[in-house]
Amino acid sequence: MSTDAQRRAGDAPDEVASAGTAVPNVQEHAGLLRLVANSVPALMAFYDADTLRCLFANAGYAKTFGLDEQTVVGRTLEEIIGPESTRAIAPYVDEIRRHHRPQRYERQLPPSQGSRWIEVQLLPHFDVDGALSGAFVLINDITRYRQAERALRESEERLSKFMDASVEGIVFHKDGIITDANEPAVSMLGYTLDEIRGRKNLEFIAPDQVPRVIEVMTARAEIAYESAVLHRDGTRIPVEFIVRTVVHGGETLRMTVIRDLRATEAARARIHHLAHHDALTGLFNRTAFMERLDALMGSGRAGDAQGALLFIDLDNFKRVNDSLGHVAGDVLLQTLAQRLTSLLRASDIVARFGGDEFMVLLPGAMPLDDVQEVANKLLAALASPVMLDGRSISVTPSLGIALYPQHAHTPADLLKNADAAMYLAKRHGRATHQVYDPELGRRALEALELEMQLTRAIERDEFVLHYQPQVHAADGRLAGCEALIRWRHPTRGLVEPDLFIPLAEEQRLILPIGQWVLREAAHAARRWRDAGRALPVSVNLSSLQFRDAAFADGVAAVLAEAGIPGSMLEVEITERMLMDDLEAVRGTLQRLKELGVRVAIDDFGTGYSSLGHLNQLPIDRIKIDRSFVRGLPEHTGNAAIARAIVTLAASLGRQVIAEGVETEAQRDFLVALGCQQLQGLLFGAPTEGAPFAAAA
Ligand code: C2E
Ligand code: MG
Ligand code: MG
Repeated sequence: MSTDAQRRAGDAPDEVASAGTAVPNVQEHAGLLRLVANSVPALMAFYDADTLRCLFANAGYAKTFGLDEQTVVGRTLEEIIGPESTRAIAPYVDEIRRHHRPQRYERQLPPSQGSRWIEVQLLPHFDVDGALSGAFVLINDITRYRQAERALRESEERLSKFMDASVEGIVFHKDGIITDANEPAVSMLGYTLDEIRGRKNLEFIAPDQVPRVIEVMTARAEIAYESAVLHRDGTRIPVEFIVRTVVHGGETLRMTVIRDLRATEAARARIHHLAHHDALTGLFNRTAFMERLDALMGSGRAGDAQGALLFIDLDNFKRVNDSLGHVAGDVLLQTLAQRLTSLLRASDIVARFGGDEFMVLLPGAMPLDDVQEVANKLLAALASPVMLDGRSISVTPSLGIALYPQHAHTPADLLKNADAAMYLAKRHGRATHQVYDPELGRRALEALELEMQLTRAIERDEFVLHYQPQVHAADGRLAGCEALIRWRHPTRGLVEPDLFIPLAEEQRLILPIGQWVLREAAHAARRWRDAGRALPVSVNLSSLQFRDAAFADGVAAVLAEAGIPGSMLEVEITERMLMDDLEAVRGTLQRLKELGVRVAIDDFGTGYSSLGHLNQLPIDRIKIDRSFVRGLPEHTGNAAIARAIVTLAASLGRQVIAEGVETEAQRDFLVALGCQQLQGLLFGAPTEGAPFAAAA
């Protein structure tokens, strides 16, 4: 636009105003004016102050209201902008007409006029007398500003909603000065928003973390990292910072999300605990124990750390679980775990490897004697009865010891060797310990081999029964015999029962083996009777067999099959078997009695039986264990025991038989005591085939 045009455009209102009272008379002026008016980006119009009729409008103005430059002229304001808009701007129009002051307002055009936001200026125009003659209307489109403004407002609203909703702390700062923070952030720090706004963010950072925070701020890094803040009371709070640079309200700010890690750390600690401890007993678990063993033996390689590993296994824990239920089993394990920890030093390491296996590590140099002393102490503590549901329950632990560096150089070997020692302890009987010796490995292997061979011994028909005579004490006449099993091993020859019965019991192979013995003995009795020499036969039972609810039915079936009366059969049970579920025991014994089968208590005096049981249960006779027969009559202790047993049996109305009678002195002493029957080498060793010749 030329300077001339600018000047004229600036003059325009005057030109228009002078034209307000008369029809424009200067053609060129009008043309120039229109040219200028149509060139400016604004909308323009001029209205008569009295009539509110449009006297002039540029093209943009007319078009906005659906008119053109010609048709718009002469129309009233209301006709042009519509009644609604007229009502809306009435206050401004009134104001300029009444007080002659310029007006400025913003409004949004109705949808029919394009919905745009406009800024309107109303400028009064006066005639030569100073009276208001008209109003000049100047309109700018401000839609774009309005939109930007709205977007900003919305984003602010969104952000503040987000900050309010977040459970994590959020802090904004500009160049390290806090500008805003949400409620979780201020309460985590123990302040109010007003107290922290305007302060340096570094004031709230734990001192040792400040360098790192400065580094991140300086680099304007957008990262997440762990740090720590300080609460007003000085408490250090572990946190994670997630930092971003954001443009907010036209300003570049740093936004920090502060995540309180205290709960997370507690959870981490809990998970760590769970991962390293046995949930039931709170002892270390296998993982944790092996870690410690590793660390200890690792240092042993460098220096001369020493230690002992005690491998403990409970022999009959499964039985407790099966008969009393898992809850009782759990209580038992917890009690035993407590006993272990209470006996050991804090520096000793105790673990449960699951099931009924416990592991104890005694770190540090220690003479073997001392290790064994600890082992015995632990065994005694574990073996002492636990009260469960009003019953006194005891388990028998077996313990294996392996030392390092003497017995192994790696944790795995140490464990394996302690295990082998434990295995041997189990073989050796109840509540004992064994120290590893290199021979053990070989023997353990042998046992395993034996086990495999045992499973095939029945089908290969490798078992045989030997019969040992039992005689009347009074005259030495044959009264019966005891069937004793032997294993004709393909390479080892005849194997004695003590070497394989415990293994068979452990593997439950004793059930088919026991059944075989029962049938074999019954059939033998039948053959003898058919040969005209009827002789009762005694059969040894294992507790597993006897505990089977269907045991008595099995016996009935065998008797029927062999075709002999029950009176030809006697079963030998041990005192221990009477300790099981008394009602079940009573039922089985009762059923055997109905079949006519007799019951003897074997190895009497070596177990712990309740005299009450003896009295209540249908038991026919008691067998004095051969360990009490040994040394009679000189051995005064055994003599007293033998006498007590015979007296007791007599008073309960039970018969007595003594086993292991080897000498005449023993026989005479037992006869004098009043023992009814005798068994032992003196009368005949166990032999394959009928025992008649020996007793004859
Ligand atoms: P037990 O029932 O106490 O058997 C008596 C043991 O004493 C037998 O040992 C027998 O040979 C031995 N013996 C006999 N006379 C004398 C003697 O004068 N002096 C000495 N010192 N010992 C004598 P065996 O045959 O080695 O049996 C050992 C144990 O094996 C038996 O002890 C019994 O508990 C178990 N057993 C044997 N056969 C069977 C069976 O068929 N089933 C079950 N479950 N156990 C059996
Ligand atoms: Mg016996
Ligand atoms: Mg015996």
